[in-house]
Amino acid sequence: MKKLALHWKIIIGMVLGIIFGFIMNGIDGGKGFVTDWISPFGTIFINLLKLIAVPLILASLIKGISDLKDISKIKSMGLRTVSIYICTTLVAIIIGLSIVNTLQPGKGMPQDTIEKIKLKYENDAGVADKLMKASAQKEAGPLQALVDIFPSNIFQSFANASMLQVIFFALFVGISLLLIGEEKAKPLVRFFDSLNEVVMKMVDLIMLFAPYAVFALLANVIIAFDDTEILLKLLYYALCVVGGLILMIVFYLIILSVYAKKSPIWFLQEISPAQLLAFSTSSSAATLPVTMERVEEHLGVDKEVSGFVLPVGATVNMDGTSLYQGIAAVFIMQVIWPEGLTFTNQLVIILTALLASIGSAAVPSAGMVMLVIVLESIGFPAELLPIGLALIFAVDRPLDMCRTVVNVTGDATVSMMVAKSLGKLHDPQPKEWDDHYDEV
Ligand code: ASP
Repeated sequence: MKKLALHWKIIIGMVLGIIFGFIMNGIDGGKGFVTDWISPFGTIFINLLKLIAVPLILASLIKGISDLKDISKIKSMGLRTVSIYICTTLVAIIIGLSIVNTLQPGKGMPQDTIEKIKLKYENDAGVADKLMKASAQKEAGPLQALVDIFPSNIFQSFANASMLQVIFFALFVGISLLLIGEEKAKPLVRFFDSLNEVVMKMVDLIMLFAPYAVFALLANVIIAFDDTEILLKLLYYALCVVGGLILMIVFYLIILSVYAKKSPIWFLQEISPAQLLAFSTSSSAATLPVTMERVEEHLGVDKEVSGFVLPVGATVNMDGTSLYQGIAAVFIMQVIWPEGLTFTNQLVIILTALLASIGSAAVPSAGMVMLVIVLESIGFPAELLPIGLALIFAVDRPLDMCRTVVNVTGDATVSMMVAKSLGKLHDPQPKEWDDHYDEV
């Protein structure tokens, strides 16, 4: 029998999961069956990925930094990473705003559709939850995000999987290892090197389960859809977001072929397992171990670059999310607050969507929580917020799946650019065990 590549197996799992979800949606007791007996397998898979994320960041970053041999390189890598991240996010927001202003998906939405959506979702627990989380986020002081990077108890950071704290700790250890000299650092460096290999192998093993897990994840997403009529009414808006996201991917591919001289098809093929998982899990954080494995082992980025750029990116670089926030904010205004659609407000959206995407957690639907803050920053009337969120709620999950793909692809692209600029991009050398990973 011809061996199937991993991404094909995952795609087959996804398609079967979608079909199964639709069938179960139409059967009496089908939803309960999926929730009780299928969806837990998706949860197990996500748990396993989360389980290895912290050791992976720790090991690859400490090992990578200690390999750099020169502290000034860390500064230069940090500066490049942050500036490229900011630039790509700005491009994403500008693409989003251009699309929503040109195509105007919210203009002329019939009043009865608005009423129907309002009735169904305005008091929905999901909408209330987003509003509550947004107000908790807002209550923290302006420098809280900075304070949060510095942990007081590293075990707590591990337990909460606080990425930026783990990254800070790893950098701290890595730099200190550089400073104590090679001889004294050797045992610890070897330990982290070996830990890195083990965790990479764990990714490999977990991925054997991926095709089945995505089946469960997708079936679970499908059983949550219940109102196709509203979904269709929001189709134009959803297509604007998806169109923008596709343009963003095209933008990455152009940069990669012009700057890194890499074939777009090759890039997409190699990164696709991470993209498919981003789509299935709606979480850049859960996808991170796979993104790291693909970027290091298949795209040829050195560990010291990927170990820094990818975990930072999963936390702060969300191009898909910021593009979505731009479109969603303007769409909501077009429907229920057209007087707010001024040029100045759109400029404020550029800035706040940039900050909001940095502040969004890499978990499902975090982008929608931060959207509330974007809307508030332009003086959107507080009493209209529940209706505003209700308007986009029905299609948020599928759009979340799509924007997470862009978030992950953006991180991978930037890691290749940073690696290229530092001379750390090589021809990938797949390891022996890649054989059973890709071609079992
Ligand atoms: N789900 C997205 C992510 O994890 C964040 C968001 O846009 O909701 O990247």
